[in-house]
Amino acid sequence: MAERITPRSEDFNRWYTDLIIQGKLADYSPVKGCMVIRPNGYAIWEKMQQSLDKMFKDTGHVNAYFPIFIPESFMKKEAEHVEGFAPECAIVTRGGGEELEEPLYIRPTSETIIWSMYKKWIMSYRDLPILINQWANVVRWELRTRLFLRTTEFLWQEGHTAHATYEEAEEETKLILEIYRKFAEEYLAIPVLIGRKSESEKFAGALHTYCIEAMMQDKKALQAGTSHNLGQNFAKAFDVKFQDNQGKQQLVWATSWGVSTRLIGALIMSHSDDRGLVLPPKMAANQIVIIPIWRNEAERNRVLEFANTIYSDLKTEFKVVLDDREQYKPGYKFTEWELQGIPLRLEIGPKDVEKNQVVIVPRDGQDKTFFILGDLRNKIREDIVLMQRRLFETARKLREQNTFDITDYKQFQKQIEDPGGFFNAHWCGSLECEEKIKADTKATIRLIPFEQAADNGKCLYCGSNSATRVVFAKAY
Ligand SMILES: [Zn+2]
Repeated sequence: MAERITPRSEDFNRWYTDLIIQGKLADYSPVKGCMVIRPNGYAIWEKMQQSLDKMFKDTGHVNAYFPIFIPESFMKKEAEHVEGFAPECAIVTRGGGEELEEPLYIRPTSETIIWSMYKKWIMSYRDLPILINQWANVVRWELRTRLFLRTTEFLWQEGHTAHATYEEAEEETKLILEIYRKFAEEYLAIPVLIGRKSESEKFAGALHTYCIEAMMQDKKALQAGTSHNLGQNFAKAFDVKFQDNQGKQQLVWATSWGVSTRLIGALIMSHSDDRGLVLPPKMAANQIVIIPIWRNEAERNRVLEFANTIYSDLKTEFKVVLDDREQYKPGYKFTEWELQGIPLRLEIGPKDVEKNQVVIVPRDGQDKTFFILGDLRNKIREDIVLMQRRLFETARKLREQNTFDITDYKQFQKQIEDPGGFFNAHWCGSLECEEKIKADTKATIRLIPFEQAADNGKCLYCGSNSATRVVFAKAY
């Protein structure tokens, strides 16, 4: 039997790790800072990939693959980029038993190698836009790691697009942000705020970065996806020009955008409970488990026959498991499937066979229902939609109840510690105030929301006039 999962109220971080290890989502690897994603965790990643990949392709993007190695000279071509990434890069200096002439960076992100290729591929306005996405692994040498949230190697997708104008690049940046928002809210059932990062939090080498930010159950923020307008910085660094329709040479405009296996961490911390994982139905590899219950041979035969009929009916439409293992008791199976986060459990005992019914138990703590057989598939269809919606609403309420407007800095210092949460506050725009607040409280500007109330105020820290509200929070 599984060990006890530490309750959230006792230690949120322990709870998170216990759930991942006991739920067999991931494990620590022999290489420090790297994790092994086990089949239960990888199944979630595959669901994420399938949904996102479809959304990218539906909006005209295509997949490609670029090398994991980046020549050092490429990394050094864009000053801000190398400054941002060099400290966390792994570098290969030997290969085939010999010192390499030029060290190779293991990609922390692929802008440089991709733009070196775009130089070859882009000549004229007719070659634009390029809308490429890559599913890949990247390496960032992290000192303090945490399963799924921060690991030295992680999986992600990185989109890299090339455009003729600033406006087109900006439109692309916003289109992708909207895809990320929709994916987070409608598939992961995680409500997100959308907006722009401050200068200090933006991507190294970008004009500006847009992001989606979510609140976890411990009221900390998690950046769940970013979309960058890179301007012409990489086109300048790699001399990528195109001939416009007037015959003039122009620098190309760029975007890049990504989400990673970090989203699995976000999914866990948004919905799960002290019994284990809670998965939104759209993210569950299996949506239903049927558990037959019997005490003797005669009951066993009747129950299994009935359960098999239900199973055959349901599997025409849903991902469903019939757990008819003989070596485990029903109670053990309940606990195990709860730990795995399967959305719906169907229990069938001898009494249910008599009454021609099944017992439906949703994973998120809603009351069980006794469903007399009629159109079971329709009932399941409805239950799945309702559960997906409930998880989103519960997360949205948590965020609403823990978001505060704040004007007084002393008050803010107290409240960010306890009870914590998201704080809407005016900010004058200076890096100094941002850094002082971070040093005092560990809170950072999570984003500058797109939608701003038209009210002028005073900077939370220095009291100067401010026309901009931002969201402060402690973050993962
Ligand atoms: Zn200020």
